[in-house]
Amino acid sequence: MLSFRQWAGNVWNGLKTTFTGLSITVPYIFRKPYTLQYPEEVPEIPTTERGLHNFEVDLCIACDQCAKICPVDCIAIEAEGKGKFARMTKFEIDYTKCLFCALCCEPCPTECIHMGPTFDLVGYTREEVIINYADRENPRTFSDGEKLPYEIVSFARK
Ligand code: SF4
Ligand code: SF4
Repeated sequence: MLSFRQWAGNVWNGLKTTFTGLSITVPYIFRKPYTLQYPEEVPEIPTTERGLHNFEVDLCIACDQCAKICPVDCIAIEAEGKGKFARMTKFEIDYTKCLFCALCCEPCPTECIHMGPTFDLVGYTREEVIINYADRENPRTFSDGEKLPYEIVSFARK
């Protein structure tokens, strides 16, 4: 059986710890929230982000350098013609394998492939995350509604 003194001490400790906790928690009610309502709100992506590629298909000369250097062999290229007359028919990146290492951007003689800021590629099947950047008929739509145009593939968010 607790004495009155012990009971009062317990009540005091309970109140004290509750108010200590509230003194930390309550100020957060008046601060700007850290959370974002994704995907309606998207975070600011640093320019150094290695997300899905930006690819300028008209500059590509189908030299295969990017595919050769890729450590996981996830770039597949097909083109009609060669050099500056090359017309890309397939520039496919398999994002089930891609490491986002950016090695493919290094040897490109025309600097037409870069790492972009988009990070939210999703799909129900593996095939849905294999992107053909040269596919004019089926541009992909991402969560922000942006499509992949054929001429210049740029995912940069405004
Ligand atoms: S980022 Fe790396 S893994 Fe992905 S396609 Fe380029 S070289 Fe390959
Ligand atoms: S290295 Fe550049 S120019 Fe050559 S195939 Fe790759 S993206 Fe095209």
